[in-house]
Amino acid sequence: MAKYKLEYIWLDGYTPLANMRSKTQIKEFASFPKLEDLPMWGFDGSSTKQAEGRSSDCMLKPVARFADSTRKNGVLVMCEVMMPDGTTPHPSNSRATIPDDEGAWFGFEQEYFFFKDGAPLGFPQGGFPEPQGPYYTGVGYKNVGSIAREIVEKHIDICLDAGINLEGINAEVAKGQWEFQIFGKGSKNAADQMWVARYILARLGETYGVDIEWQCKPLRGAFNAPLDWNGSGMHSNFSTTYLRDKGGKEYFEKLMAAFSKHMDEHIAVYGPDNHLRLTGLHETQSIDKFTYGIADRGSSIRIPHSFVNAGYKGYLEDRRPNSAADPYLVAGRILKTIQTVPTP
Ligand code: ADP
Ligand code: MN
Ligand code: MN
Ligand code: MN
Repeated sequence: MAKYKLEYIWLDGYTPLANMRSKTQIKEFASFPKLEDLPMWGFDGSSTKQAEGRSSDCMLKPVARFADSTRKNGVLVMCEVMMPDGTTPHPSNSRATIPDDEGAWFGFEQEYFFFKDGAPLGFPQGGFPEPQGPYYTGVGYKNVGSIAREIVEKHIDICLDAGINLEGINAEVAKGQWEFQIFGKGSKNAADQMWVARYILARLGETYGVDIEWQCKPLRGAFNAPLDWNGSGMHSNFSTTYLRDKGGKEYFEKLMAAFSKHMDEHIAVYGPDNHLRLTGLHETQSIDKFTYGIADRGSSIRIPHSFVNAGYKGYLEDRRPNSAADPYLVAGRILKTIQTVPTP
């Protein structure tokens, strides 16, 4: 028997952006616990905008678990928030809104900024670095600074140790901006992994005095930058069994008509402040237009060349979700729209 440190992670009730919360409980197991070995737990919902003070208990239901190589006998436990009865999903439980579909696959490209002392990492105090250009996939101290690479390297290792299907990382267009990609099979799988990968990154930043800025256009407002800087997206690549195996131009066009019809419902869950990012510039489409195009990074949905070459089969990229979007809501909305289109 060994004592395991179970880190229960959940999303709080803050709007428009839920925060990650977590706490540890110690439990004894003969070996690394399976998901079904992990008990439900509770927390004070009145401190997380999930309950009133008088009846404050909310329940945590484990839905996925990962090894935590940063802690001896550590386990990262992703949880859904449930009502006190333990079976009714709490209104803030976005995961519970995703249709079950084992054949649905998602690949999320998470962009974000490192922020230190209120500015993007590597920005000179009170000023701005050289304009965008050399930073994307850049190398060298003047392009990526001195600690960003150490953090992203550690992030890769901790994710891989956890069994998270992280597919890659790259330095992005703005200074201090990076990306990682997560892929998963099953309608909830990639989003579960994404939340835990975000958690690992945010926690890692503590050691370096660095915060992760998930907001989609941080170089506006307080940073009234003299030059225009890129925002952060969470491009969402998706496919279903039918899209991969059958597809076809006719079905594809019906699908795009459904995406166009439900444009507002998609934008509603694609992250706050997206009007600042979806401007039609910086490889985006305007927030009030829905377009699709082959290899077109200025469209709402990009169709990879491979999709057309295979006879309209494979995966599609929705470029509109932003870096702060909840991947549970994104996956849920994409599948709900797909479900409105009958398969022949
Ligand atoms: P780009 O930056 O050119 O848009 P990336 O290589 O960063 O492309 O991301 C492509 C994403 O597509 C990856 O996250 C990958 O996991 C995902 N992907 C690949 N095949 C599929 C598929 N069949 N279904 C869903 N997602 C997929
Ligand atoms: Mn990418
Ligand atoms: Mn990118
Ligand atoms: Mn992309």
